[in-house]
Amino acid sequence: MRTPWRAFAIAAVSLTVTTARADRSASGAPQPPNDLRQHAEDVVDYTLTASLDTATHSVHATGAIRWRNTSSKAVRELWLHLYLNAFKDDDSDFLREQVGGRGSSLPEGYGRTEIRSLTLQNADGSADDLLATMETKRPGEKDETDARVPLPREVGPGESIQMDVAFDDKLPIVVERTGYRNSFHMIGQWFPKVARLEPDGTWAHFPFHHLSEFYADFGTYDVTLDVPESFTIGATGPAVETHVMGGRRVERHVQGDIHDFAWTAWDRWQSRHDAVDGVAVTVLFPPGFGDIADRELEAVRFALPDDSARYGRYPYVTLTVVHPPQEAAEAGGMEYPTLITGDGPWLTPRGVLEPEIVAVHELGHQWFYGLVATNESAWPFLDEGINQYAEGDTMGRWRGAGSAANLFGLRVSDAAIQAVAGNMAARDEAVAQAANAFSTGANYGRLVYSRTASVLETMRRVYGDDTVARALGVYTRRFRFEHPGPEQLIEVFDEVLGPAVAATLRSALFDKGWVDFAVDRVRSERAEHGAGYEGSVVVRRRGTLLFPVDVDLVMADGSRRRETWDGDGDWKRFEYRGRIPLAGAVVDPDDRVVIDSNLENNHGTTAEGGGRARRTIERLTYWLELLLQTVSP
Ligand SMILES: [Zn+2]
Repeated sequence: MRTPWRAFAIAAVSLTVTTARADRSASGAPQPPNDLRQHAEDVVDYTLTASLDTATHSVHATGAIRWRNTSSKAVRELWLHLYLNAFKDDDSDFLREQVGGRGSSLPEGYGRTEIRSLTLQNADGSADDLLATMETKRPGEKDETDARVPLPREVGPGESIQMDVAFDDKLPIVVERTGYRNSFHMIGQWFPKVARLEPDGTWAHFPFHHLSEFYADFGTYDVTLDVPESFTIGATGPAVETHVMGGRRVERHVQGDIHDFAWTAWDRWQSRHDAVDGVAVTVLFPPGFGDIADRELEAVRFALPDDSARYGRYPYVTLTVVHPPQEAAEAGGMEYPTLITGDGPWLTPRGVLEPEIVAVHELGHQWFYGLVATNESAWPFLDEGINQYAEGDTMGRWRGAGSAANLFGLRVSDAAIQAVAGNMAARDEAVAQAANAFSTGANYGRLVYSRTASVLETMRRVYGDDTVARALGVYTRRFRFEHPGPEQLIEVFDEVLGPAVAATLRSALFDKGWVDFAVDRVRSERAEHGAGYEGSVVVRRRGTLLFPVDVDLVMADGSRRRETWDGDGDWKRFEYRGRIPLAGAVVDPDDRVVIDSNLENNHGTTAEGGGRARRTIERLTYWLELLLQTVSP
């Protein structure tokens, strides 16, 4: 999902050049061997037939869910997510948290999923009713998004069951990710979805919280959709059959190795089609949005092969980019397998890269949310945070320093925005916690998205371009289809970048780790013996995160001498001896440690070290300070 605030808003602020990207190595990203798993373990298959009633904004569906117990334990129940019930009434966890959280309002129209029948099919052709004993809510609770389904018999490890299901959806007026507006329909989280059973036999089920996203097992989705003939469908996976019959357009979409399915239907969709890196890309957009669609397609042309090279090949044959109409913008900026939604008004100036950033962001989710498939409820940073880093990394490589906005010659980098936002909350609460454990929506955004991204960006700048990309490349390949947790991420950083870097990452994620480099004291005086000057500089590292840094000693004539510090310990003294008086010093002069919590103390001068040297020193950090003061997400 897009970051809770919009990067483009800051483009209107009068600020200027910030951090340029550190030097890139000529070789680009490393290419770990592409020995990728071709397919996920098929755990849950959905065969559904769904009919959209565009007058009542309802979906009527029937079908079968085949589920296999891939855990080591027998189970006597299963859990179904009924996500659309988050919009059923004001008592849902989602709407209660929304009102107290991100500051949005209640939806203008409610929505829900109602299961009409649910039966367990037996080998002898008989069926057991599961609906009568299904519990949609816990005693004393009102939320109905997390249903427990007791099973009449045990399902052992390796055993499969088939449930037949019929259900009706009433769509809400578009709220955040799903719903309708006039004849536009964006249909996500619309079917009863089996929760993921972890290998140890515990169900990873949860109510639909306002800040949390999803988690599910992989399988094959075979979904037949029908809509009025005049409507265009966009959906997960390729259409393997299409026909028009009795005034209805019918499309059957089949896709394996995915864990969700979303679709859209509208009678005003326009489209662009292109083949990008062997993938059939469709952009669906409202009338008048042709320019935006072209820009989204341009972003996909860069990012799809780029992401494939970095994180392992995109394994699907289609990608659909859905740009919702202005009045349904709440459906924008979201990811589903092979289908993403864009964002940005039709008049977005070329210099404000919102359509590009959102397209790159949501496309990146195809790897972290889609293929690696972490638990977004328990560890949102593993998806949104790493993907936010990947977004900045891709945008930086594609568009250079002004990667968030480039207006009237003023450039703002995505990385600088993330660093400032992340620092605002770095000492409040941990990054690595469940979505519903965050105190506020603002802190969720600052920590899950921005802090994770800027910690990784700092590592990229400190340890070199290839390092973080190499670690993430190993992580996304090794854990494709594997649902890893934070320990697996840290394990890969340990393996690729060493235990010290892994420890830094762990501290930054779990222990509110932070760092502030500061030039404390700069001293310079005539040498007691012989000609010239001698002096010293004391540089401190405050906080708990350890990074090596450069320290520039700046002489009175503006010339420099570069020293390095491994960052170990609380402080280090640099001795100076030379022909020219020492005027000052700058720690981290190339702005590699973007998460440095105070940039104003990164330079220091002697009492006399004024004039030209002082101006040179101060100019180095001036723009970043300005950014710190001006930008507030
Ligand atoms: Zn996202």
